[in-house]
Amino acid sequence: MRAWPSPPYATPWRQWVELTSRRTWHRHTSAVVCSAPAQTLKRRHGRITGVKPPAFAYSAPERLDDALRLLADLGSDGKVLAGGQSLVPMLNMRLVAPAHLVDINRLAELATVEADQRGVRVGALARHSDVERSAAAAEALPLLRQALRQVAHPVIRNRGTAVGSIAHADPSAELPAVLSLVGGEVTAGSSSRTRTIAAADLFLGPLETSLQPGEMLLSAYFPALPPGTRTAFVEVTRRHGDYAVCGVAVTLTRDDAGVVTQSRAAYVSMSDTPLVIDLAEALVGGRASDADVDAAGRLATDRTQPDGDIHATAEYRRHLAGVLTVRALRAAA
Ligand SMILES: Cc1cc2nc3c(=O)[nH]c(=O)nc-3n(C[C@H](O)[C@H](O)[C@H](O)COP(=O)(O)OP(=O)(O)OC[C@H]3O[C@@H](n4cnc5c(N)ncnc54)[C@H](O)[C@@H]3O)c2cc1C
Repeated sequence: MRAWPSPPYATPWRQWVELTSRRTWHRHTSAVVCSAPAQTLKRRHGRITGVKPPAFAYSAPERLDDALRLLADLGSDGKVLAGGQSLVPMLNMRLVAPAHLVDINRLAELATVEADQRGVRVGALARHSDVERSAAAAEALPLLRQALRQVAHPVIRNRGTAVGSIAHADPSAELPAVLSLVGGEVTAGSSSRTRTIAAADLFLGPLETSLQPGEMLLSAYFPALPPGTRTAFVEVTRRHGDYAVCGVAVTLTRDDAGVVTQSRAAYVSMSDTPLVIDLAEALVGGRASDADVDAAGRLATDRTQPDGDIHATAEYRRHLAGVLTVRALRAAA
């Protein structure tokens, strides 16, 4: 794979953060298309020339075995194409330049959402909307639907995959935070083995996971939460459907007497990888009174150390962490 473009952006992640803030962002998502309207190109060149992304080879295997074999042969030159809702913009912005795309959209066996009282397993080709609409998944883990309703717009959720979002490892994305909060795991496959990776070992940095060249994610598993647990996901975005400036998922577990026995929160856009904070010291042993919930908000402000960027200052993000923690706990209580 070729190197990232050189400065003015310090890292590809910084470039992604800045470019996705511009009004042109939506134009970058419109599949692999010409860099100017077809009529303009015809007028200029007499034919349609040029595409936005760097050149790449493309395969769309129809069997999982073939896909894994191909990925093994390609090693770090290969990249999985799932819903394309993050990869295509990155190609169009020339933030990535894989030699070969392996399109997994024909692997129908991976388009699964399986749920029971123990948890939800999402196959690599299940779209966000498949998971969002699954009544069984919403019953097993309501937090999944609560989070997915915050992901982009319905049209993007119809195409983008839940597992693709996890593989993409964007610290502004909702699903990596949910997977981390519930202690979930993913299953990675290659031509030689299948292995399970806990969420805590998967996310290494912005857009970086512990997946090895030649591996792809086959599924993600979200375990159900203990009985008596309620959840909420709240966030602040600059425009409807944008990535969150700050987002918070909370769990609040009570015993039969209504006493809080555990509570945790996961934060979006607050660190390089999903940040999970235990809120026990503010809430456990009480009944989630206003005073306890406010104490949890202060705990969140104290324990978060976000960066500032083009979207928000670090101080504003920390302020939001506190306010949104309170708001999420009140919604869950
Ligand atoms: C306008 C817009 C707004 C958005 N807003 C949000 C938002 O608010 N929150 C949010 O979470 N997301 C948002 N997204 C991103 C969206 O959720 C994507 O669907 C998701 O990030 C990636 O899923 P995908 O299937 O499209 O993956 P792709 O774009 O196909 O791939 C993304 C990356 O993951 C890798 N990958 C994908 N599947 C696998 C696999 N099975 N194994 C290994 N690697 C894999 C690819 O190689 C690539 O590196 C937005 C997208 C757009 C266009």
